[in-house]
Amino acid sequence: MQTANALPGPLDHLKDRSVLRTACLIGGEWVADAARMIDVDDPATGRVIARVPDLPRAAATQAIDAAEAALPAWRARPAKDRARLLRAWYDLMEVHADDLAWILTSEQGKPLTEARTEIRYAASFIEWFGEEAKRLYGDVIPAPAADQRITVLREPIGVCAAITPWNFPAAMITRKAGAALAAGCTMVLKPASQTPLTALALAELGQRAGLPAGVFNVVTGSSRELGPELTGNPKVRKLTFTGSTEVGRELLRQCADTVKKTSMELGGNAPFIVLADANLDDAAKGAIASKFRNAGQTCVCTNRILVDRAVLEPFVAKLGAAMRTLQVGDGHEDGTVIGPLIDRAAVDKVGELVGSAMRGGARVMQGGAPHELGGNFYQPTLVVDVDEHMSLFKEEIFGPVAAVTPFVGDDEALRLANETIFGLASYVYGSDIGRLTRFVERLEYGMVGVNTPAISTEVAPFGGIKQSGLGREGSHYGLDDYTELKYVCLGGVPT
Ligand code: NAP
Repeated sequence: MQTANALPGPLDHLKDRSVLRTACLIGGEWVADAARMIDVDDPATGRVIARVPDLPRAAATQAIDAAEAALPAWRARPAKDRARLLRAWYDLMEVHADDLAWILTSEQGKPLTEARTEIRYAASFIEWFGEEAKRLYGDVIPAPAADQRITVLREPIGVCAAITPWNFPAAMITRKAGAALAAGCTMVLKPASQTPLTALALAELGQRAGLPAGVFNVVTGSSRELGPELTGNPKVRKLTFTGSTEVGRELLRQCADTVKKTSMELGGNAPFIVLADANLDDAAKGAIASKFRNAGQTCVCTNRILVDRAVLEPFVAKLGAAMRTLQVGDGHEDGTVIGPLIDRAAVDKVGELVGSAMRGGARVMQGGAPHELGGNFYQPTLVVDVDEHMSLFKEEIFGPVAAVTPFVGDDEALRLANETIFGLASYVYGSDIGRLTRFVERLEYGMVGVNTPAISTEVAPFGGIKQSGLGREGSHYGLDDYTELKYVCLGGVPT
């Protein structure tokens, strides 16, 4: 078992160390050697916990060749067969859930309870898409001519490249790989350099489950080195990306030369609207769940809390009281609700956003500075009177900062909510079903949570509009993004 590059630290506490991998998987072979290595650190302590290969571009080419070689046999397998292997992969994720969660917390920082939830969520995509593989139906269309028959087949796109972010090191991979493999595609994955260990552990379990060599490959390394191969190699027929809108735009430009299909799950700027007739206790609880998960580092995190001025004071009081109970600490420790941010740059960015809002006249009710634990920790922060011209309102905060903006009237609430280039998740709390229905219809977002912050599930289509992305992941729609339609017109049928 190749784990020589795991260093003393939290990874020593795994129950079954065989899940841990510090080598890449290319064509069924583990590749550990590289001229350079990437340090993986624990965001809670800043200590390096492992090293993974910083592979050269040629390794990405090799992985794409392996995925292409594996494609004909994989796509030819009966769907039931592919489903069986995906089920075995899912089962292994369940069996090793505790260790996967521990690895995830060690490299990403989120509290263990959240890491366990993410592993279960990640596994659910493998299970779901394995089941959906058996229902990849085509179509029969009545033909305009008596001697013709028209059918539509759904075929796998081919070799897919995936690039994933650090904030959900497991789920952002399985949401793509589950769908791709179920549809009969093969995949080359480049995970975020800050969280490669979860990806490599998933690859290890996929191999144990019996995925044939080359069906699922993982390469680690610099995005500048590997990215252009994944976006430029004509053998890759599709790029699926989750990450920032800025990088997504660049990847779309790179994919244009070979006219690849793309799925883009990009940034968000979610509004959380509290109407005057909302149950304020439920709304405050929902805002906490939606704002502070993963220390505020999720694409569907509430970014702007828009509150009817009539209930501003009582709502802010409830939110502030709930925030004071949030325990900040190392994600491995019992009781931690808010872990560290991913790195120092993230802490600095959050500090700049809060500072600039304060200079613009917003009021910091609590928090507003790095946490006394130091390092990458930031205090849960409540800022009110944030206005639409502030960067705190316009940019993705990606930190534990609740930014509150008052509004008067439904039209202003909707104008403020839609006043952004993003269109991923949105939330609205109220009690009048007719009024809520109008909000749902007028919110320019791919997802709307009505009186709930919990919108992510494998059975529903996840994705955004505007500059939040292209395509959907999860649900039965999620398979569409990995298939091509082939229309067959059979002529000369005796009439
Ligand atoms: P990021 O900086 O865009 O990086 C995401 C991935 O892209 C990483 O694997 C990164 O590799 C790679 N990358 C960066 N520059 C690249 C380039 N020029 N060419 C090829 N690959 C490149 O995003 P992040 O900071 O990891 O993640 C946070 C962002 O993801 C937020 O904006 C969040 O909203 C978004 N997100 C969206 C969703 C969704 O479903 N819509 C879900 C989760 C996160 P390296 O790590 O090696 O640099």
